[in-house]
Amino acid sequence: MSRRAIIAGAGIGGLAAALALSRARFDVTLYESAEALEEFGAGLQLTPNATHVLSDLGVLDRVESFALRTRAIIAIRGSDDAVLMRMPINGAVGRGDTPYLTIHRADLQRALAEAARRQPNVKLCFGSTVAEIETNGDRISVGVKQGATTIHDSADLLIGADGLRSRVRERFRFGKADRLAFVGCVAFRATADSARVDSGWTRPEVCLRLGSRAHLVHYPMRGGSILNLVAVIESTWHSADDDHPWDGEADRPTLDRAFSRWSKATRDLLAATSHWRAWPLYCRPPIASFSIGRIALLGDAAHPMVPFLAQGAAQAIEDAGVLGRVFSQIQSIPDGLVTYSRVRVGRMARIQIEAKKHGRTYHLNGPMSFARDASMRLLGAGRLSSRYDWLYGA
Ligand SMILES: Cc1cc2nc3c(=O)[nH]c(=O)nc-3n(C[C@H](O)[C@H](O)[C@H](O)COP(=O)(O)OP(=O)(O)OC[C@H]3O[C@@H](n4cnc5c(N)ncnc54)[C@H](O)[C@@H]3O)c2cc1C
Repeated sequence: MSRRAIIAGAGIGGLAAALALSRARFDVTLYESAEALEEFGAGLQLTPNATHVLSDLGVLDRVESFALRTRAIIAIRGSDDAVLMRMPINGAVGRGDTPYLTIHRADLQRALAEAARRQPNVKLCFGSTVAEIETNGDRISVGVKQGATTIHDSADLLIGADGLRSRVRERFRFGKADRLAFVGCVAFRATADSARVDSGWTRPEVCLRLGSRAHLVHYPMRGGSILNLVAVIESTWHSADDDHPWDGEADRPTLDRAFSRWSKATRDLLAATSHWRAWPLYCRPPIASFSIGRIALLGDAAHPMVPFLAQGAAQAIEDAGVLGRVFSQIQSIPDGLVTYSRVRVGRMARIQIEAKKHGRTYHLNGPMSFARDASMRLLGAGRLSSRYDWLYGA
């Protein structure tokens, strides 16, 4: 019997879910508020646990055609460029059979959207906001705003892949004290032309510069032609109303001040571009279930997290992989969603907590930062990388 799914949101999570559900023989309609795929210039690390799912979904080759294989992760002390740890990557972390990639977010979305469009049982609708949701026995009915008109649709399953400010999550009160909480950090994001930075930073390596109350991550993308830069600082700069957070033009003097005592190499990297955007970081606490009846959350809608483990998109892709596997074995939608939630909730709570811990470790200062640096050196790449087997090896 054919089953029908509606997905709210065509971000990385929604698109991956469309592919996974179409392979489990669902007819899928994806509604996306934006008029087209966003071209915002930011990068992503795609860890082996995510590329493994992309391989199962049959899109890894296409994704790789846009991506760079990371050879190493390097931790650097921001004040003087001392290398604290160099962890070789491919073949050496997690499963060892799928790559660790860096990719432009828009390229990943494009690869997923192309694959979704090729499926005869997937329909992708832009400029379409899921605005009303009603449960009706075994059906879920939605009102979808398309400009001035509202169309109505219904399905056996609704996936809320509608991001941090998820309407589906709010409508069905998945979390108890479920308000967005500003985490006290702002991420400044930019891309720089590789010709404007030292050629040493355009090798396919992810560099993590650590310092007091701030860190900087940088890595090349698009064949090494551009460098992705993410500078995270502790700051109170955010919207006065946490229910309506915003991102916007970066306060450049604040960024420069936060890194003013860092090495010249770090400051040169920040100076390589003037087009910074600022993203105050928000989170929500872990929740006990990702599903209610025939409705499930996925990606940031289910488990928004701070980005310090580079896992938000990876986990949205993992969610999709699990949904696909569950529904290729289980016909009943409520039963399938209970299994999906059971498989995902524990792992996600751990990752949300670990991501926060990583942020605290990155930003240590004084004697605690000396202890961190010494333990990184002492542990060495081998023992440090085995600490991530639970994450990358899933
Ligand atoms: C600084 C920073 C760095 C990061 N780096 C990494 C990284 O290296 N690796 C990694 O894995 N992750 C990273 N992340 C996290 C990652 O970007 C997110 O976790 C991921 O993009 C979430 O995908 P999603 O599809 O769940 O949500 P989103 O990308 O938010 O997509 C939700 C979509 O739903 C649409 N939508 C919203 N409401 C509706 C509605 N009512 N109807 C229809 N459509 C709707 C939106 O327009 C949007 O397109 C980073 C995040 C930040 C902030």
